[in-house]
Formats: sequence, C-alpha cells, structure tokens
Amino acid sequence: MLLDRVRQLVEIESPSDDKRAVDRCVEAVAEMAAALGGKVRRHRQRDFGDLLELRFGRVRRRTAKAAGDAGPVMLLGHLDTVWPLGTLRTMPFRVAQGRAWGPGTLDMKAGVAMGLTALEALRATEALEREVVFLLTSEEEVGSPVSREVTERLARSCVAVFVLEPAQGLQGAYKTARKGVGRYTLRVEGVAAHAGVDFEKGHSAIDELAWQIEKVRSFTEPERGLTVNVGVIRGGTRGNVVAAEAEAEIDVRIARAGDAARIERRMRGLRVRDRRCVLEVAGGMNRPPMERSRGTAALFHRAATLAAELGFGLTEAATGGGSDGNFTAALGVPTLDGMGAVGEGAHATHESVVIAELAPRTMLLAAMLGLQ
Ligand SMILES: [Zn+2]
Repeated sequence: MLLDRVRQLVEIESPSDDKRAVDRCVEAVAEMAAALGGKVRRHRQRDFGDLLELRFGRVRRRTAKAAGDAGPVMLLGHLDTVWPLGTLRTMPFRVAQGRAWGPGTLDMKAGVAMGLTALEALRATEALEREVVFLLTSEEEVGSPVSREVTERLARSCVAVFVLEPAQGLQGAYKTARKGVGRYTLRVEGVAAHAGVDFEKGHSAIDELAWQIEKVRSFTEPERGLTVNVGVIRGGTRGNVVAAEAEAEIDVRIARAGDAARIERRMRGLRVRDRRCVLEVAGGMNRPPMERSRGTAALFHRAATLAAELGFGLTEAATGGGSDGNFTAALGVPTLDGMGAVGEGAHATHESVVIAELAPRTMLLAAMLGLQ
C-alpha cells in the first residue's frame, strides 16, 4: 500500500514551474487524504501549483484546553520536484535492488506517502489524539516564493513541525540543523570597444566582475559555516570586443541567523573598482538557518528513544541544504527535519529510496504524531 502510494505519486510528474502538472499531483493527494478522513483545503495559486492544507484527527476546542493539552502538530512536505515533464520516459518508476527508483522518489514523494500512511495507521487504531495539520507546498524547489507565508501562519499555531524531507545519508539521520540560503546576482555594465582599435576606450565589465568575484570569495568564513559560491558567470559577446556586460549568480549559506545581516552588509557594500563601470547587487537571503534549538533537540531525543523501542538506531545530522523547515524553525517552533525516506541521489538520475526503511520510518513517524 505504501509503495503503491509512492508509485502513484511518482508517476504524476510535477515540476515546480508547471502549475497544471503540480495541480494534478495536488488533486491526487487531496483524494487520498479525503479517503483517509482528512479535511482538505486548497490554497489556490495563479503562478504555481495550489497549496494543500490537510487536517486530521481530533480538534480540541480552545476553551477545553487544559494544562498539558498540546496544540496541533504540523507535517510539512512539498509536491513539486526538480524533474521536467517527460523524465519518466527515461527514468520510469521501478523497483529493483531493494529500492524504488524514479524522479522525485526520495525528494520527496516517498515522504508524502509515508505521511499519509502514518495517518492512516493512526486512524485505524484510533490513536490520533490530537490534530495534525499536513501542509504540502508546490514550489519548495524554487525557494517557496508563495507558500512561505502560509507555512509560517499555520506553523505559528502548532507545537511542533515534522518535515518529510529525506533523511541524511544511507544511515538515515534526522536533520536537526540546516543552513540558511541566500541568492545574489552581481551585474556589471561596462563600456564596449573594439579590442584592437579602441582598446583603451573600453571599460571591461568582465574585468570588473572578475575583481568583484575575488572580493566576494573572500567573504567565505568556513569556521562559522558561512560559504559564498559563485556558481554561474555570464558576460561578453565576442573575443575581440571589450565586454559591456557581465553577471554572476552567487549562492550564500549561513549556519547562524545573525550572519544574514553580516553577509547582506558586505554584499551591499561592494563598490566598483573601475569608476566607468556600473555595479548592481540584487537578491538577498531567502531562507533563514534552522539552528539546533532546545525544542528541536528534545524532539530528536524523543524520536531516538522511540526508534530504539522499534528496534533501530537513529542519529542526527546538520546539513547545508535548506527546506521549508528553515522557516518554521526560525519562528521558534520546534522543528525536526529529515523524517521522510532514506535513500540516495536526490535531484540526480540515481534518485532512489530504500524500501526496507519505509515501514520502520513510517512507524516512527506515526509514533511521533500519536504522542503528546
Ligand atoms: Zn525536498
């Protein structure tokens, strides 16, 4: 049943930039959730797939809230993938070597299927003692531009957030810290000239950008977990022309929330060396870091204890990658991430999940949801 759900979801391709495709996946999950007694609410979107808010379990009236009577818990996932339509033709869903393979299996359709199956098990045993808000976003892979506000609003009313992103590595560690992510673009406008005839009249945007890149590289401080990567450069037109334009795309990662202001100040502080060039700095921090708070550590401790009771060991890890859990953690809501599938190759052609890990991880998820 669980593997069948994974297959169903993987076979509905859902690239972030294709609203109609993502909406087909949203529709399928809405039907699955309704069949499990979930209340379905779609947050309609124009430019991206709709956001899906599912509610399960007992809703306690606020007036009846006694001491120790916890609020709802949030399950957080996304339905979009990085894979374009048609990927299934070359990378079909298949089961082999103890794994399920296919686009979006690990990141994170198996995680979504696990969430639904955990809720199904809790319902069948009448063990769901509290409300679960299951939010599925549609554009996580492109930075969650429209869902962030909804994620934050719903998370504020929850006592904990469980994120269904893949666990870390084949040992399947839960993620208790994530780096924050920023994206910047440097654009330089220079003065074009013939490289042979008028060389001295030119002001090369490429030379200027190269100088800025050296500067930006020096912002990396590995000891505090702050890295700056110039991932893309573009510029110029021909070898014999002094370049009039050049630009660079930069990825920034921070481990500490306080470093957002630090890097922002430095990026905005960049000044041209060649005064005839114009430098424009665009972008900013996108996701705050998920720091390992006491609340998150307590959630992990509980999960590790439950895992031991279920018969397996559970470790924790920090990662440089961001997720929607970064947003909820930054609000101060205890957030535990990596509670989805165990596997390899997210965003790569060998993307796959370990089938033997699906059941125990889903049981652990159900146990975490049923508690409190
Ligand atoms: Zn993901």
